[in-house]
Amino acid sequence: GVRYVRYIIVAFFILTVIYFVSNSADVTNLRTHIPDSKSPSEGGTNSGTQDASPNDAKVKTTYDPAQFLMAMTPNDPGWDDLTSINKGPRMNATFVTLARNSDVWEIAKSIRQVEDRFNRRYNYDWVFLNDQPFDDTFKKVTTSLVSGKTYYGLIPEEHWSFPDWIDQDKAARVRKEMKEKEIIYGDSISYRHMCRFESGFFFRQELMMNYDYYWRVEPSVELFCDIHYDPFRFMHENNKKYSFTISLYEYPETIPTLWDSVKKFMKNHPEHIASGNSMGFLSDDGGETYNRCHFWSNFEIGNLNWLRSKAYLDYFESLDKDGGFFYERWGDAPVHSIAAALMLPKEEIHFFNDIAYYHVPFTHCPTGENLRTALKCHCKPSDNFDWKGYSCTSRFFEINNMEKPEGWDKEG
Ligand code: GDP
Ligand code: MN
Repeated sequence: GVRYVRYIIVAFFILTVIYFVSNSADVTNLRTHIPDSKSPSEGGTNSGTQDASPNDAKVKTTYDPAQFLMAMTPNDPGWDDLTSINKGPRMNATFVTLARNSDVWEIAKSIRQVEDRFNRRYNYDWVFLNDQPFDDTFKKVTTSLVSGKTYYGLIPEEHWSFPDWIDQDKAARVRKEMKEKEIIYGDSISYRHMCRFESGFFFRQELMMNYDYYWRVEPSVELFCDIHYDPFRFMHENNKKYSFTISLYEYPETIPTLWDSVKKFMKNHPEHIASGNSMGFLSDDGGETYNRCHFWSNFEIGNLNWLRSKAYLDYFESLDKDGGFFYERWGDAPVHSIAAALMLPKEEIHFFNDIAYYHVPFTHCPTGENLRTALKCHCKPSDNFDWKGYSCTSRFFEINNMEKPEGWDKEG
């Protein structure tokens, strides 16, 4: 009898050991996905592993906080508990929204998602800008939804009107022609003021002067995943100046002479062109022509001091003098993107795979099933635009020698 008991005890012991060994092997496997074992709070490096030989076509992907989240447990340092207010170091940062009073219910939806997925634990401020005074309903609704402080700014007229060097007749002729060609917003005056304002003025509004970082939010956008860390702090700690979630090709009809204007600027201001820039993202022939790739600027997290730098202001002024905001219909997306790609070293532009985003008609749903599960995403993976034909994001990965996230060729 005693012998049987002994056998049972030994068998139980062996099974227990097997159970623990197999579990810890899982954890070890997960952790080997991490390119650099530092947690975000210890400040990982942003430039990826440096041990690849110069001949290696592919270098490991850049520091990506999502990689940590996938491997972390809630007890690890760096994991931001979604049930409590984040007490980490705060950045001097704000959300910023340009909107009309009539946009109130659509911006309400956007705010609610940004708050639920991120800001309710961080309570960053939110600046609203408008070419008309905001009404009481707009202020009441938005203030009740934002967990941080809200501020409402009226845009000065000189930032939302035709500069005196613009030939009004020529501008009116263009609008008529573009309407006949059915170009989107082709005949709109206000849309042109909006694009010029977002290109050259939002970052120097009085209310914005208090901040170093901004996150642009438009009406009717969606966020599909939790954000377990502070993207502003990520930008700061990794010296990122500009970021995006979606990239694509611009309509050629809206920018016929934009690249000519950019080339003129490059010639007059070679001192503003960064070495190690992202020209390869913009051009397939070394800068001769523009391939129309741009970062979609309705989502942006960026550094305001960069936009307020002499380099960016010289660039905007040069483009503005050429008149294409009115004689054509230059968008702020290609204007910002070209600036970032030419005047920043390429390491300073960041792609947020882990921020899931929708603005009609495109979706960025993070690549990687583990990531989507960890972040409680509710987007449909096959809606992800990143690796489809009309996206420029593959090109961004190529010029940065980054490996595409695992699953990019299987999802969607
Ligand atoms: P789209 O995304 O290019 O289709 O353009 P939107 O209509 O979304 O406009 C871009 C941003 O500018 C949004 O945040 C709008 O709320 C805002 N916007 C557009 N036109 C005006 C305008 O005339 N006045 C104000 N105050 N905001 C505008
Ligand atoms: Mn929009």
